[in-house]
Amino acid sequence: MEQTLVLIKPDGAKRKLTGLVIDRLDGAGLRLVAAKVVSVSEELARRHYRMLKDKPFFENLIQYIRGKFHEIPDSQILALVYEGEGAIARVRQAAGATNPEEAAPGTIRGSFGRVTTKGQFENVVHASGNAEDAEFEVKLWFTPAEVLHPIYPVTRGNGTKAEAAAWS
Ligand code: UDP
Ligand code: MG
Repeated sequence: MEQTLVLIKPDGAKRKLTGLVIDRLDGAGLRLVAAKVVSVSEELARRHYRMLKDKPFFENLIQYIRGKFHEIPDSQILALVYEGEGAIARVRQAAGATNPEEAAPGTIRGSFGRVTTKGQFENVVHASGNAEDAEFEVKLWFTPAEVLHPIYPVTRGNGTKAEAAAWS
C-alpha cells in the first residue's frame, strides 16, 4: 500500500480543473486519504522543489507554485494524499508526462497542460515521483494526524520553522 502527494497547481485552480482532477483520480481507483487548503510560503515551495534548485526554471517554478502567475490570493493551493496499491505510479500515469506537449492524450497534463511562451510548463498537477519523494512530500505538506491511517508516521519535513530547525 502506498500514499502519494497530489497538488492542484495554480493553473489548474484558475482554470477550474480541481473537480476534474479529483474525478480522474477517483476513476483510477485511488482513495483520497487527506485534503487541505494550504497557503504556500516561499519556504514551503523551496523545500518542496529542493531537488530542482539548480535548474534554470527554478525561480519561475517557485513563483508558479505560489500562484504568482495566476493571481491566486494568499498563494492558496489544494494538497491531497491518495492511497492505493502502486498509487505513486498510478497517479503519475493519470497525470502524464512533465512536459504537457509530450504527455499522452487523455492524461490530465496531456488534456489540460500548456507550455507558456516563456517555456514554463503549466501542467495542472504535481504528483510525487517515487517512493522517497512521496514520503518526504506527504510529511512536508501534512502532519500524520491529518492523514487517514498514515503510513509515514514520523513527522519529518513538516514545513514549520520548528521542524525545519530540527532537521536542517
Ligand atoms: N518544469 C518546468 N520546465 C522543465 C521541467 C520542469 O517548468 O523543463 C516544472 C514543471 O512545473 C514540473 C516541475 O517543474 O512539473 C517539477 O519538475 P519535475 O522534473 O519534478 O517534474 P514532475 O515531477 O512535476 O513531472
Ligand atoms: Mg518531480
